[in-house]
Amino acid sequence: MPGQILVVDDQLLCRMILRAGLGSACYDTILASTATEGLALACEHLPDLILLDYNLPDGDGMDVCAKLRANPKTRNIPIILVSADQSRATRLRALEIGADDFLCKPIDEAHLLSRIRVLLRHSAIEREYQAHGTSGLRMGLAEAGTDFAGPTRVTLVCTQAETHAQNPVASVDASLYDMRLALPDLLGAAAQARKPDLLILSPGCMDQNGVNVIADLRARHATRQLPIAAVLPRETPTACAMLLDLGADDVLRLPLDVAEFRLRIAAMLRRKKRHDALRRALGTELDMALRDSMTGLFNRRHAMAHLSALLGEARGGAGFSILLIDMDNFKRVNDSFGHVAGDDVLIEAAARMASVTRPQDVLARFGGEEFLLVLPEADMVQAILRAEAIRRQIEDRPFQVKTGEVTLPVTASIGVAVHLGESQDPALPLPEQIREIIDRADQAMRMAKATGRNRVSTMDDAEV
Ligand code: GH3
Ligand code: MG
Ligand code: MG
Repeated sequence: MPGQILVVDDQLLCRMILRAGLGSACYDTILASTATEGLALACEHLPDLILLDYNLPDGDGMDVCAKLRANPKTRNIPIILVSADQSRATRLRALEIGADDFLCKPIDEAHLLSRIRVLLRHSAIEREYQAHGTSGLRMGLAEAGTDFAGPTRVTLVCTQAETHAQNPVASVDASLYDMRLALPDLLGAAAQARKPDLLILSPGCMDQNGVNVIADLRARHATRQLPIAAVLPRETPTACAMLLDLGADDVLRLPLDVAEFRLRIAAMLRRKKRHDALRRALGTELDMALRDSMTGLFNRRHAMAHLSALLGEARGGAGFSILLIDMDNFKRVNDSFGHVAGDDVLIEAAARMASVTRPQDVLARFGGEEFLLVLPEADMVQAILRAEAIRRQIEDRPFQVKTGEVTLPVTASIGVAVHLGESQDPALPLPEQIREIIDRADQAMRMAKATGRNRVSTMDDAEV
């Protein structure tokens, strides 16, 4: 995975070694020797990851880390803090302050590269969401930067032999776990609807089939992004690197440091919630792109795409009908009560129309005061019945206008056109076919206007 890594270290030899190691793994490196230079280069280049030394001549790595986390531009860049100081207090402070990982010097290169790959994997997911989103998602991103409340589901996976009392992970914090699972039951359970937010694989699992299970979970669509932490029975850098590369998001080892364990679990859960929020924001944004903001109905673009898909499917298959619904004398509504009142009438009319549609129908605001209803598998009789139901919904109850507290009668004229399964001219390109059916509905709607308004018309075989 190519990427740009900023190395901040005051020792020339360390910078050179890291540059060589990272270069051989095809990463670009930018080098800084002081805290000030590191901060400036981070803001300028927005690298994919930062390797930050604890001891710097003009400040310490913790301060740099805190400043990077406080700046919205650099807040989400993964940071690995590196230090010759192996004390527990330093390690905990680094994690508390927002470093994604903490490694001791001298650095084991294979371990470092696997930690880098995990962090870059996480940022690649975020970038993918960002690449698909626009302003709505950026709003979601800002929102996702905050912590989220809500129940979390942490599942502890043990071997059959590990009783809970003996399990060194379970004894750290029994209240943390929402559920305990035996390793053989994991694959079935993890794919079910009530998915956990995080899986912790106990040391016993690592001695059994746990390694394969991690690879298996990553290969399955339902659990591809499920956060996984593995606990190793002993210090084995090679095994740790292998598990990270197979798909574990973090690897800890016995004996567990309770405070560090909690900090690492909390960071994984925060990331998971952030990714969930991004996914939701992207889903909302995609939906918004298909909607008319005033009425909440589908917009013209979606209606056209839907018609195009239906016409494609209709070749030789089931037909469908469309209704073109135009409000009568709407200019008068605006002229008498103002544009805002006119908007309220359109919103209420849209709601009334939507109340008589089926789930498979697509109702769209097609233009200013014009609506299109697409009725899959509806023949002429069914389409006319639906059009009558809509016409009555609009006519039967006068509309409330907030300004002036008056009610006003509103009506609509509706043109019906039917597309039979066997198209009249199958050689006609799709855009032409769409234009043709909309034209027919439009002509029918105009006829309804010409013959008195507040009625349903069709230019097809049956006329009402
Ligand atoms: P007809 O019965 O022949 O359809 O008469 P009409 O007045 O509805 O016809 P026309 O299409 O000439 O005018 C449509 C009017 O609808 C003009 C426009 O100001 C109004 N209109 C279109 N979009 C909106 C909107 O979003 N809000 C409001 N308040 N009015 C709109
Ligand atoms: Mg009109
Ligand atoms: Mg009109």
